[in-house]
Order: sequence, then C-alpha cells, then structure tokens
Amino acid sequence: SQGGRLVELGGLVIRYGAIAAVQGVDLAIDAGEAVAIVGPNGAGKTSLLSAIAGVARPSAGSIRIAGKPLAGIALSDVVREGVALVPEGRNIFGSLTVMENLRLGTTPRRDASVPADIDRVFADFPILGERRDQPAGQLSGGEQQMLAIARAMLSRPRLLMLDEPSLGLAPNIVDKVYDILRQIRGQGVSLLLVEQNAARAFALADRACVMSRGVFTLTGTPAEIERHEAFDAAYFGVA
Ligand code: ATP
Repeated sequence: SQGGRLVELGGLVIRYGAIAAVQGVDLAIDAGEAVAIVGPNGAGKTSLLSAIAGVARPSAGSIRIAGKPLAGIALSDVVREGVALVPEGRNIFGSLTVMENLRLGTTPRRDASVPADIDRVFADFPILGERRDQPAGQLSGGEQQMLAIARAMLSRPRLLMLDEPSLGLAPNIVDKVYDILRQIRGQGVSLLLVEQNAARAFALADRACVMSRGVFTLTGTPAEIERHEAFDAAYFGVA
C-alpha cells in the first residue's frame, strides 16, 4: 500500500512458563490498514497485542515497527514509535478526572501542540468536554471507552490496537465506538482489533485472522473468512 509496511511479526512466540500462549505468528500490517483478530478465550490474542505494545516479551521471533526491531526498546519508546494500546477493561483511572486521564495520553510527547489536540478531543467527543473535571469513574462504560480511545490517540499513534472494544457495551454505543474507529482509520492510522464480536470487527477490517491455541488458523478478507466452512459463526458470536 501507499504508506508502506508498518508492523511485521515473524515467527512470534510468547511463553508464560510452560504455557505457550502464542506459538509462531506471522503478520504484516500496512499503514492505514485495519486488521481484526477473532477467536476463543485463551487463544493468545491479548498476549499478541501486549507483545506489540512492548509489554509482553517475546520468547522467540521478531516484531518490527516501520522496519525497526522492537527488541530492547523501552516501553515509553514503543509509544514514541507510534504504537498505542486500548487494553481490555480500558485502564481508565476512575478517581482521576477526565482531563487528567487525557493528559496521561500525552506524557510521551515533547511537542507543543498538546493543548490543541486536547481541544480537538473535546470537539470530537463533546461529552468528554462537558465532563472534563469529573472523576472518570462517573462516566458510563461507553463514555469510558471513548475516553480510552481519545487518550490513546493523544499519543499520536501510527498503530492503534484495541482489545475487545465492544465488550459490555450496548449495541448503539458499539455503533458509536466503531464510527470513531472508522474515522481514525480514515486519518491513515492502522488498526489492530481483537474482538469477540466478529461481525463488528469484520465490518471495519480490511483483513482478518482467526486465532486458536496460539496460531492463526485462518487469514483472509472478512468475506473470505465468513465464507469458510471452518469459520463457526455461532461460536464467534455473529449476531
Ligand atoms: P482472552 O480473550 O480470554 O483474554 P486471549 O485470546 O486474549 O483470551 P491470552 O489472554 O493471550 O488469550 O491468553 C493465552 C494463554 O496464555 C491462556 O492460556 C492464558 O491463561 C495464558 N496467559 C495469559 N497471560 C498470562 C500470564 N501473565 N501468566 C501466565 N499465563 C498467562
């Protein structure tokens, strides 16, 4: 694609003691591309995102961001390389205000345009502006998910990863979250999305991977995967 390759995983293995959570995964994501990973609990999806975020250390294999190996890079520098993760459960600090949570997203930055970017967050997410001085714990689940996404975007990522962004949210709120993700992708940001809700993720993704027991068992366009006889739609919660 025009923007070139952003992420490249080669033979990635992640072990926790005797447990091999990820057992040899290859994946390439181009700039501006959206990739969905679906699969049952315990498949290794969260571990994969953690490794790309620099949190989980690979036991074998390689991770490159824009051609640069991730091995040995400090966590804060992974963010500076343009990688942001919205983890499952969102990691919102409930006793801090909305504004304080947003400011945490800007800590890796050294540029002067942070205030302008925060103003833009409040333009894009008016509810966060209205509640900027309230404890984030008082926000609804959907508002907290918006806050987590807005906070991640304040690090100006080239790759935004989201772990179960629709979990626990009402369908109309999930619509809103996915509208936002579509806008973000439209700005040229790559997305890597882990979802139980395959139908939602597939509607957005350019490519999808089904992960099971630490490996990708199917990869292709969402349409190819949905057509595949091995793709058990009921299991993955397509509704
Ligand atoms: P889920 O949707 O349940 O989070 P997942 O596909 O994201 O599942 P992982 O969370 O990556 O899968 O877990 C993969 C395997 O690794 C599981 O067997 C899990 O128990 C194990 N595991 C994950 N994190 C750790 C850890 N920190 N220590 C030990 N085992 C772990």
